[in-house]
Amino acid sequence: MLTGSGTPITQDPGKAVNSSLHTSEGPNAGAAHDYDLFVIGGGSGGVRAARIAAQHGARVGIAEASRWGGTCVIRGCVPKKLLVLASRFPEEFDAARGFGWSLPSPTLDWAALIAAKDQEIARLEAVYAANLDAVGVQRHAARAELLGAQRLRLHSAEGVRELTATRILIASGGHPWRDSRIPGIELGLTSDDMFDLPELPAHIAVVGGGYIAVEFACLLQGLGAKVTLVHRGAQLLRGFDADLQSALLEALVARGVDVLLQRQLSALRAVGGRRELELDDGRMLSVDQVLLAIGRRPAIAGLGLDAAGVELDANGAIRVDARSRTSVPGIYAVGDVTDRVALTPAAIREGQAFADSEFGGRVTEVNYAHIPTAVFTTPEIACVGLTEAAARERVGKLRIYRARFRPLRDTLGGGTHRVMMKLVVAADSDRVLGVHMFGPEAAEMIQLLAVAIGMGATKADLDATLAVHPTLAEEWVTMRSVA
Ligand code: FAD
Repeated sequence: MLTGSGTPITQDPGKAVNSSLHTSEGPNAGAAHDYDLFVIGGGSGGVRAARIAAQHGARVGIAEASRWGGTCVIRGCVPKKLLVLASRFPEEFDAARGFGWSLPSPTLDWAALIAAKDQEIARLEAVYAANLDAVGVQRHAARAELLGAQRLRLHSAEGVRELTATRILIASGGHPWRDSRIPGIELGLTSDDMFDLPELPAHIAVVGGGYIAVEFACLLQGLGAKVTLVHRGAQLLRGFDADLQSALLEALVARGVDVLLQRQLSALRAVGGRRELELDDGRMLSVDQVLLAIGRRPAIAGLGLDAAGVELDANGAIRVDARSRTSVPGIYAVGDVTDRVALTPAAIREGQAFADSEFGGRVTEVNYAHIPTAVFTTPEIACVGLTEAAARERVGKLRIYRARFRPLRDTLGGGTHRVMMKLVVAADSDRVLGVHMFGPEAAEMIQLLAVAIGMGATKADLDATLAVHPTLAEEWVTMRSVA
């Protein structure tokens, strides 16, 4: 399971397995280099790899072209979750009234929210930098470019500098994609821009149907914007269980998000300070801003991959093997730039496995089975294991358990939420193959359920567990009738 510590292939803490640092094998044996390891990118994967390698005794340098912490900390998971949390208060205010509280009309100070978020992000960035310093990793505020298998050039405010390293790890992440075939596409914002907007747009169109699109649609609506979601597919969240897809669609519409499915953006224009979207059915939309959330691409531009001979796959991601080795001996890659599983815990686990394998004498491969996933809409989506459709294809006969109910809080709070909880069980073995939830605290629940699923829990194991009452989570151990 991904959230475990990876799979040790060999364990010999006293000996660096396949390490060329002090042996005559491997890349550049015997040569003196500036570093044993140089990491390109100070995000989730790069920082973990640098820290662990340094703790294993390696001389490590790391370059970051932007801010320490990378996408997750600066313009991804963390600031997004802070905005998600902010967006949930209006529902809380409404519910509070049903529980007897009287509240004045609350208003949002957008500038105060962004300033508070910025302060927290700056604090986290400093923690990332301090953690690197604490284990002796040398930080370079610079853009790194490969010149060969063991040579790099750093471009920084101080100038250009060249250095060498026995091993190089590329952890340069990804970036939002813009479809350059669409006229005016540069007028759209991407998720990178959303955390520093001077004001909350009164009306925003979100283009896309993946998790970033639906999260932003939901949080912006919660914060008070009018949101139109435009998606080319017939369902949101491709690859998720069909019951989650329909529960989300229903909830977004109930919240007041205008959802336009099977429509594509044909052109984008600036009209008097506003944005005009032309859709492929000829419809025109006039909004204040457009968020393009139509995918991400590996960040490979300017890395000098050609110079070093590093091969890419068909999607433009760096091709790696199970131990994150690229086509060039001595050059490795982890995280989003490899396009394996574009999530922070995956990048961290890959960075850890790389460092343990190359510097810690413990060859480790990441196990990508049973990755728990959450989508921070309101309410949340979370799942682990197979969708019903995938399980049917792989296993055949299934038992499906499904519960849909109104949460207790809404009885007095007056909300209109519908919780959906679903178990996909193999009919023959009784193994729980998939767990899917749409409802409050789904992400918190799935983290723990992932432990049980990874250990091979059966439906009988869930049935044998006593419920915690009254909770939403008790439904996992009290579902009795097959849907
Ligand atoms: P990154 O974190 O992107 O770090 C790469 C770093 O490399 C960047 O700081 C970049 O500046 C630097 N860099 C690039 N090129 C160079 C160069 N040539 N020289 C020097 N430095 C360079 N994941 C989750 O698990 N949960 C979530 O809820 C979640 N929410 C997300 C929300 C949004 C809006 C986005 C965009 C992403 C989200 N993700 C989430 C995904 C997660 O952020 C990424 O999977 C993770 O950050 C990948 O880590 P990484 O180390 O591969 O790259």
